[in-house]
Amino acid sequence: MDKLADTKVKKQNPEHSTIIAEKNTHIGEGYFTVIAGPCALENEEIALQTARAVESAGAEIFRSSLFKPRTSPYTYQGYGFEGIEILKKIKKETSLLIESEILTTEQLENIGDELDIIRIGSRNMDNYELLKEVGKTNKPILLKRNMSATLEEFLLAAEYILSVGNENVILCERGIRTFESYTRNTLDILAVPALKELTHLPVIVDPSHSTGKASLVPSASKAALAAGADGLIIEVHPNPEKAFSDGEQSLDLDSFEKLMKELYELAKVVGKKTSKPVLA
Ligand code: PEP
Ligand code: MN
Repeated sequence: MDKLADTKVKKQNPEHSTIIAEKNTHIGEGYFTVIAGPCALENEEIALQTARAVESAGAEIFRSSLFKPRTSPYTYQGYGFEGIEILKKIKKETSLLIESEILTTEQLENIGDELDIIRIGSRNMDNYELLKEVGKTNKPILLKRNMSATLEEFLLAAEYILSVGNENVILCERGIRTFESYTRNTLDILAVPALKELTHLPVIVDPSHSTGKASLVPSASKAALAAGADGLIIEVHPNPEKAFSDGEQSLDLDSFEKLMKELYELAKVVGKKTSKPVLA
C-alpha cells in the first residue's frame, strides 16, 4: 500500500467525516446510518410505500436506482429520468434523503443536483472519467468496490474523486467474486476494519448484493456493524417476489423492521450513535 502514502484517502485528518447536514443525517463520525429501498424504482406507489416503511423503521436515506446496470440488456433497465419526480416527492413527504446510481455524465448533468447522494456502482468503480466528473460536484459520493478490485485499487478510485476536490466519499464494500457460488458474492468483512485502518473515509456495507439471498442479509448486516461499518445499504421491497430486479435478495417490509430493531440494539453495544432516536 506504499503508493497511497501521500494520498488524500490516507488517515491524515481523523476528525474528517462525511456529514450531510441536511435533515441532520450523518454518515461517519461514530454514527450508524441506514440507506434502504428497492433495487430499482418501479412505480410511485411501490416507491412511496417502501419509503414510508423504511423511514418508520429507522432508515435515513432512500435508495432506488433510476438507471440499472444489468448483466443482460433484456432485463429491466430502470425507470429513467422521469423517476426523479418520484424521488423528489419522497424527499418532500418523508424525512428521508434520496440517493441513486449515476451511470453516465449525461445522467449526472441532468439529475445530479437533485440527489442528496450519488452512487457510483461497482461496474463503474474504474470509470475514471466519470469519477473525475463526480469529483467536481460537492455531493457525497457513495463509491462501491468493484467485484474484483483490491483494496488498493478501490482506494485509488476514491482518490480520483478526492483529488479533484470532492472530499465527501463514502466507501461501500459489496462483496467480491470468489469460487463460492452459494452466495452471489463473498462479503469481504475484513475490508471494513482494513479500510478504516487505511483511510478516514466512512465505510458502509451492502449486505444485499454481497449475499444475493434475503435469508443471509440480517447476518451480513450484523457482521458489518460489529466489524465497524458506518452504515448499510439494504434492498427492501413490499413484495419481493414481484420485484422487477433482485427480489431474491430484497427484504420485505416486516423483515426490514425486525432487522432494524436488532441493529439498533447492536449499535448501542458497539458504541455507535444513531441520528434518529433508537427504536423501542
Ligand atoms: C446496486 O447497488 O444497485 C448495484 C447494482 O450494486 P453493485 O453496483 O454493487 O453491483
Ligand atoms: Mn440490486
